Amino acid sequence: MSIEQNLHNIQQQINQYQTPRTVSLLAVSKTKPFSDILAAYHAGQYQFGENYVQEGVEKIQQAQQQNIKDITWHLIGPLQSNKTRLVAEHFDWVQTIDRFKIAERLSQQRPSHLVPLQILIQINISDENSKSGIQPEQLFELAAQIVQLPNIQLRGLMAIPAPTTDPAQQKKAFAQMATLFQQLQQRYPQLPIDTLSMGMSDDMPSAIESGSTMVRIGTAIFGKRN
Ligand SMILES: *Cc1c(COP(=O)(O)O)cnc(C)c1O
Repeated sequence: MSIEQNLHNIQQQINQYQTPRTVSLLAVSKTKPFSDILAAYHAGQYQFGENYVQEGVEKIQQAQQQNIKDITWHLIGPLQSNKTRLVAEHFDWVQTIDRFKIAERLSQQRPSHLVPLQILIQINISDENSKSGIQPEQLFELAAQIVQLPNIQLRGLMAIPAPTTDPAQQKKAFAQMATLFQQLQQRYPQLPIDTLSMGMSDDMPSAIESGSTMVRIGTAIFGKRN
């Protein structure tokens, strides 16, 4: 075997050691033109995250016009109740559920010809300045309400920890998320609770090492945003 092949094999083993699970990549395309999405799509990327409802819906419609049907669209920004219908009608996932009322509206407004909307509960794990996400103590009460709803499917948790460049700090927040995620899985063994969405361009390694199953990467794929 060549040195190149050996290196490749070793690298693969290291990766497997670090992540015995699959980590999926969500390409965060907010503020970027549809042409950037197309470029990523043609390079084999099929999952995209958008923060703003109107912008996301426009891109989803552009994809439909081009007869592209195999993209999965995630809303990863805050959702107000006056925008839930648009989201229920167009998106595949919503990662930012932090109120029962929003989940209930999405459930009511999800068209019956579509598969259930896939839902993540957003946890405010460390960012005291952020108003998004519930406190960890509130998780099981909200989850118990959400799992009763038809037309939406609880898949797991999402978090945006306070930004820090210190890997120890990053991992502290991610480890708390991993614990909550395991508790949620144990609470609902019959449900497909399989998604722990954490990790962005600046903290991806810490997130993966801590148990992330989905990283949300914008800048490192599409470049800086204005
Ligand atoms: C913008 C954004 C990202 C991507 O951030 P990058 O640092 O550009 O990778 C991920 N998640 C959420 C919720 C975002 O708003």
